[in-house]
Amino acid sequence: MTPVKPMSYPLMEKVVALCRRRGFIFQSSEIYGGINAVYDYGPLGVELKRNVKDLWWRNMVTARENILGMDAAILMHPKVWEASGHVDNFHDPMVECQKCHRRYRWDQLPGETSTCPECQGELGKPRQFNLMFKTFLGSTEEGAQEIYLRPETAQGIFVNFDNVVSSNRVKLPFGIAQLGKAFRNEITTGNFIFRTREFEQMEMEFFVRPGENAQWLEYWVHERLNWFKLLGISPQKLRLRAHTKDELAHYSQACYDVEYEFPFGFSELEGIADRGTYDLTQHMALSGKKLYYIDQEARGEKIVPAVVETSAGVDRTVLTLLTDSYWEDKENDRIVLRFHPAVAPIKVAIFPLFNKAGMPNVARKLYDDIHFKFPAFYDDGGSIGKRYRRQDEAGTPFCITIDHQTLEDRTVTLRDRDSLEQIRISLNQVDSVLTDKLESLIQRNK
Ligand code: ATP
Repeated sequence: MTPVKPMSYPLMEKVVALCRRRGFIFQSSEIYGGINAVYDYGPLGVELKRNVKDLWWRNMVTARENILGMDAAILMHPKVWEASGHVDNFHDPMVECQKCHRRYRWDQLPGETSTCPECQGELGKPRQFNLMFKTFLGSTEEGAQEIYLRPETAQGIFVNFDNVVSSNRVKLPFGIAQLGKAFRNEITTGNFIFRTREFEQMEMEFFVRPGENAQWLEYWVHERLNWFKLLGISPQKLRLRAHTKDELAHYSQACYDVEYEFPFGFSELEGIADRGTYDLTQHMALSGKKLYYIDQEARGEKIVPAVVETSAGVDRTVLTLLTDSYWEDKENDRIVLRFHPAVAPIKVAIFPLFNKAGMPNVARKLYDDIHFKFPAFYDDGGSIGKRYRRQDEAGTPFCITIDHQTLEDRTVTLRDRDSLEQIRISLNQVDSVLTDKLESLIQRNK
């Protein structure tokens, strides 16, 4: 849980400053003073985020025969949120300061707090605050229907259960996965992109025979923890935490969080929950539609499958990658994002040592040859040392420099971001050397 009043953490401040300086992440609508707890991803940030989403999709959907993908709309029928329990239960207890009108999550204030931590004013009575954003569907506000922006992507999967099952040949156990935006009007926000009001989720609902939930929960907990390790995140900073009985939703038998040790403490990256048959049963009750799996092997027996859910945050994963990879290499006077090559926004940078003697031509040609295959960056501005430093801060694992010797023997230097080792390889080996170095690492992500 994040603290009420965000404290300052030196590492967080450095990461936020680097994100701005290098164009990873900006405050939304900054030129108008910004909007609280909403962020925009810049050129490097969008690539980093896309890599996270692609690697998740590849691991969860492409590499698995029994998981299908889908992409539901953000706007859904309001009944969906009645059935899911969000209208009645998606509340946080909120208190408001009578003097400065700041609002706090009651359960995040230290016990017995009765005065505002900011202005020492008197706090009002706690009341329930629903976290769903409302909007209007229809052309005039008067005649329009009030609907919600989805607070999670999962319900788009449950309401499409029958559509997916009847249009595909699936057999239990099987999963349906999707990723996309979700919106929550969080009372307390902070810690940069850890808790925002607009964010992205990567969710998968795994449908199993009732009674097999516990074993599948065990399976998915380990698969998901392992995925974060495959992204190169320090294993000693990742842990699993089982929910205590009083943390569990009433329909849930068990739930685990994958947590990462951020500068502000261990906090949730992903929840993996046994949801039983709750969601499908609820949607059957409210929609009147049959949401069964017909078991052909058991003479057409109708089953309401139980569900194990994996629900991860894209933005929290991005924040983890940024803080975990941040390294001040004092010895070499540089800041480095030691990203795993699979997540690095740029895989290779190409530099002519000087803007003369034909070096730019060779460097351009190399860039043109490879940038469809490897996200690449061409840079001929400033000293070579400055160009290397910029790529270190962007987390680019490899830099290639075209120098005098290239013009004589068609070899180039390949610099490794972490070890700073430079090797000479021939121009026509660049593709295969990079393929080997990058693909072998990315393959592990299967
Ligand atoms: P928390 O306890 O931190 O509020 P939660 O238990 O409400 O999280 P879930 O409903 O389980 O979160 O959502 C699944 C995942 O979605 C979380 O693990 C997190 O990665 C992401 N997520 C949820 N709320 C936010 C948010 N406000 N900002 C960014 N990511 C979020």
